Amino acid sequence: MFTAALLSVALSQAPSLKQARALAEAVYEGKTAQLWRTASASLKSQVKDEAGLRALVNQVRNGVGAEVRVITESMVDRDGGTLYRRVSAVTNWARGMELELAFDPAGAFTGLIARPAVKDAPTIAGLHKTQTPLRLPFDGQWFVLWGGRKYDDNRHTPVPDMRYAMDVFIVKGPGTFTAQGLRNEDYYAWGQPLFAPGDGVVLSVVNDTPDNEPNRPRPGVLYGNSVVIDHGGGEFSLLGHLQKGSVVVKPGDHVSAGQLIARCGNSGMSTEPHLHYQLMDDADWKKAQGLPAQFQNFLANGRLVERGEPLRTQVISHAAVEARR
Ligand SMILES: [Zn+2]
Repeated sequence: MFTAALLSVALSQAPSLKQARALAEAVYEGKTAQLWRTASASLKSQVKDEAGLRALVNQVRNGVGAEVRVITESMVDRDGGTLYRRVSAVTNWARGMELELAFDPAGAFTGLIARPAVKDAPTIAGLHKTQTPLRLPFDGQWFVLWGGRKYDDNRHTPVPDMRYAMDVFIVKGPGTFTAQGLRNEDYYAWGQPLFAPGDGVVLSVVNDTPDNEPNRPRPGVLYGNSVVIDHGGGEFSLLGHLQKGSVVVKPGDHVSAGQLIARCGNSGMSTEPHLHYQLMDDADWKKAQGLPAQFQNFLANGRLVERGEPLRTQVISHAAVEARR
């Protein structure tokens, strides 16, 4: 009886999902007054005053940027207290971010951590068969750094629209660049022509984001210069990190598979010239769910794939072009 009474008291102290959610939103919005009011005595003594807490929160905010969408939330018991975990897509990190808020047994806020999300975003698209006949959106041999359906193979998987995305680079010998790799021009992928992967209508174009210096990604414009193509049937392609000013199509243009649309660049949340490609179920990536993209007739490590999804570490090329070499 005694235990039960204690338990009910303890339960009543735990923050509700709604309360924890409000605090997470306060973190992303930098509203520290609310956080300070619920802070535990130990957190208060660590950060000294609200300004100290604000400095801590701003450190997290500067790192992750603004929240684009919430992917999952959960509450778990930990050491008699509670952890609230919120996985979100954010502007300053091209993958999912997990924000964790900790509460002590009395329900007071004791601290926060932000770290890259590592869990695959929940999806119902796993059985989706790509309807659009897709060809690889480039010629030549490209290296798949991230591609596949699981986080270990593909760091994109925690974010819904990127769920089946791939990042491809050009590798020659030991790496992706010649000389020091200090300039975009040093990278083999830089300026390479990129093609419509399938027939469709161009829906949106971004063409004015400056390219980054290598290893200095630009927060805030996730995909940088990009093209979204509506293939019909609820399938949309997004090609991102394109070279500034290189996009040669405009919204409303009908494109056919293999038609030049842009050149490979280093814009948005990108550290070096490469192509980010994803297939999705909506024109707006902020709302879209990623779809598996099965390309047709490509070579993967020299073997013909008539229909398949490129995987991490494969060297892939468009088969028809390879045959002409
Ligand atoms: Zn990517």
